[in-house]
Amino acid sequence: MKWLSYRKLAKQAERLGINRLVRMIGSWRGLLVLTYHRVGNADACSFDRGVFSADEQLFRQQMEFVRDHFEVVTIVDVIEKPAHYWQHRQAVLITFDDGYVDNYEIAFPILKQLGIPALFFVATDFIDHQTIAWWDEIAWMMRQIPTDETADERDDKICEVVERYYGMIGSQADDYLEQLGRDLGCGRFKGKSPLWMNWDMLREMAANGMRFGGHTVTHPILTRIDESRLDHELSAGKRRLEAETGTAVEAFSYPVGNPDCLSVQLMEQTARQYQVAFSCYGGVNHASRGSRWNRLNLQRWPIYGPMRQFRITVTWPQLQN
Ligand SMILES: [Zn+2]
Repeated sequence: MKWLSYRKLAKQAERLGINRLVRMIGSWRGLLVLTYHRVGNADACSFDRGVFSADEQLFRQQMEFVRDHFEVVTIVDVIEKPAHYWQHRQAVLITFDDGYVDNYEIAFPILKQLGIPALFFVATDFIDHQTIAWWDEIAWMMRQIPTDETADERDDKICEVVERYYGMIGSQADDYLEQLGRDLGCGRFKGKSPLWMNWDMLREMAANGMRFGGHTVTHPILTRIDESRLDHELSAGKRRLEAETGTAVEAFSYPVGNPDCLSVQLMEQTARQYQVAFSCYGGVNHASRGSRWNRLNLQRWPIYGPMRQFRITVTWPQLQN
């Protein structure tokens, strides 16, 4: 609901030219963190198209816009600077979640060229074993069956099934994938996923100023697993990333990152391994006007949609709080 009215507002503002005016005035202060997942041509993808944030051209446009209008900061700045430092800045941090290969093939050359040091949160089993993510597997299964639906109709159906899965816990979720494969007649996805980066790619990115953050080992929703597994997901993911990339891993992003994927206990546990942790909702982080700088729940905004939407997102992020 909130999103629909926001989009309408964005359209009106663009038409009236308010967007440009507000941008010139500078409407917000703090740290705005943007989340990307995949960059590339969603229409050619036989897995989940819902995780594409932008195509190559749009991504370049977005990064040029950020470079030209805001102060681009690194994760080291975020860790080292105190909360009050951000009160008077318009700082943007670019982040990616999961470890998709297009991050290396498409986004990395653009980031390198523009001098933008992004932070990549990686689930280590995706890199180590090239295992398929459940959302990609669901989309793959549903694309195996012939249909006379339009591409949009099928994407909507995939989205519904992915959301249904998201609500399940433990073995119920695995049973659901088995059942879905049986019902559709295609079975489960077999073999390795072609979608992930490898360690050599990550090392090359590290050598060119990119940094990495923990995103667990297997990408579970952390509020739904027991404490011993939680400890493993937080610590083993960090150790593996540090060993393979030779960089310090002090930041973490909670898988999925919605408010229901966080708890006080989870944040306490995360603080034992990481300096800062990011969710995936909300807007600007700052320590003024009654809001708090919470280093274990720094908010991020997921990017999708056309350039117009992007300009509004980074111009008026306070509307997302
Ligand atoms: Zn993720």
